[in-house]
Amino acid sequence: MSFQNAVFIPGPTNMPEKIRQACSMPTIDHRSPIFGEILNPCLDGVRKIIKSEDAHIFIFPSTGTGGWEVALTNTLSAGDKVLAARNGMFSHRWIDMCQRHNLDVQIVETPWGDSLPSDQYEEILKADINHEIQVVLATHNETATGVKSNIHAVRGALDSANHPAMLFVDGVSSIGSMDFQFDNWGVDVAVTGSQKGFMLPAGLAIVGFSDKAMKRKHTAKLPKTFFDIHDMIKGYSSNAFPYTPPVGLMNGLKVSLEMIFEEGLENVFSRHYRIAQGVRLAVDAWGLKLCANSIDVQSDTVSAICTPEGFNATDIVTRAADKYGMAFGVGLGEVSGKVFRIGHLGMLTDAMMLSGLGVAEMVMLDLGLDIKLGSGVAAAQEYYRHGN
Ligand SMILES: *Cc1c(COP(=O)(O)O)cnc(C)c1O
Repeated sequence: MSFQNAVFIPGPTNMPEKIRQACSMPTIDHRSPIFGEILNPCLDGVRKIIKSEDAHIFIFPSTGTGGWEVALTNTLSAGDKVLAARNGMFSHRWIDMCQRHNLDVQIVETPWGDSLPSDQYEEILKADINHEIQVVLATHNETATGVKSNIHAVRGALDSANHPAMLFVDGVSSIGSMDFQFDNWGVDVAVTGSQKGFMLPAGLAIVGFSDKAMKRKHTAKLPKTFFDIHDMIKGYSSNAFPYTPPVGLMNGLKVSLEMIFEEGLENVFSRHYRIAQGVRLAVDAWGLKLCANSIDVQSDTVSAICTPEGFNATDIVTRAADKYGMAFGVGLGEVSGKVFRIGHLGMLTDAMMLSGLGVAEMVMLDLGLDIKLGSGVAAAQEYYRHGN
């Protein structure tokens, strides 16, 4: 392995050298004020990234999955009712976690490739006249299918039903790469991790709570120890954690936030859109289709590309790795073998993306698909030449 090629999996992403170096730091006393100089900029920076004035930010040594658990265990009790749609592997896994915590999940089965059905959410919420539903779950960007959902519309469903349920959003593969508006969308808990938009290794669960979600302290009976946000608050009050914090990763997060703000948050979003748009034009030039069922739901961080009937899409990922030393993402769950995924988030440039598209073309031709070398690359090049 030379590690010379960029990776095109939808997380972990490529890492800027500056962030790698920031993660590799000497030991400090994590109970000294020096730690506060890392912790506090991280909390403030994350709040800015999710566009919130006063969300309570928590950083746990974990991953996005741990963030889901932080959200559930600090707000709910066994038997509580949760409303969720299943439109891909990640929404599925969050539902599975709810069930393993003995929550009562009302599942709206949604075609993989569709976005979250806010209309159905609205109907269900309107019918719930006793307000038994405590939480609505929403996966902002379904990484398995490359589908983004309109969280503002999900909030609209809650509001037009005049329903007091909380809104929990999985922003693991969107936050820091696509616009996320915690305050405007009335989000109660937002969840992300370190290895996607923040361009870090895996190892941090990053979570934001609204005041409303914080108030569940006295009613939430689900067991938690490691993930108790109130222990974490006590730690923060003396610039510390309730246990040993992953200082190097958090120092990396501090630098990541600085890099994002230096580029400009909106510029980061438009770079992700531009790179994704080049990929979409390439897919079109190859004569292939995205798993995302309409243009307005196409994700700017990952594209899931359908391969022809009878072809095993996973072969593309295997051959790209074996022959060309390049990583793409396999299809997961229901779309396993039917799609391969190109991750295009985090540290990425137009030039890096062209290398990924070029290799994808060679691989597909090697495997007998009817692809003209250079066709997708040319479509993306033409777009990138004129892009802002
Ligand atoms: C990656 C991802 C997760 C899981 O995060 P881990 O860090 O692997 O635990 C959850 N949701 C979405 C949408 C993701 O993309």
